[in-house]
Amino acid sequence: MKTKNIQIRTNNKEEFIEITQKVQNIIDEAKIEEGICLVYCPHTTAGITINEGADPSVVTDVLNAFNKIVPNDLDYKHLEGNSPSHIRSILTGNNVSIIVEEGKLVLGTWQSIFFCEYDGPRDRSVLVKLISKS
Ligand code: ZN
Repeated sequence: MKTKNIQIRTNNKEEFIEITQKVQNIIDEAKIEEGICLVYCPHTTAGITINEGADPSVVTDVLNAFNKIVPNDLDYKHLEGNSPSHIRSILTGNNVSIIVEEGKLVLGTWQSIFFCEYDGPRDRSVLVKLISKS
């Protein structure tokens, strides 16, 4: 299957946007039963993660903690002025791999896939590659 592209318009400087259903829709359209789904973020100030999607307070707490862990006021050298966004991207990582069984993403009860914006608002892309024998 060709790589698919999910377009995302972020609305805030920092936010997590749940994309689980958008990824599942790609699997549904591809009619893949078994395989691996790679979700990849091709940006240096954003990331991809899997974490709790049921309680939005978790995302709020993560963003608050990242602001403590990665201070905005260090003596950064990067002239663009967004080094904290780059560092938060590195801490998050830029991809996740998810098992696909019986045509569905295999996720835990409380797990959701998130696009993590650290330097918005921007137009972003998420790439999705399905690896399957079928
Ligand atoms: Zn930069």
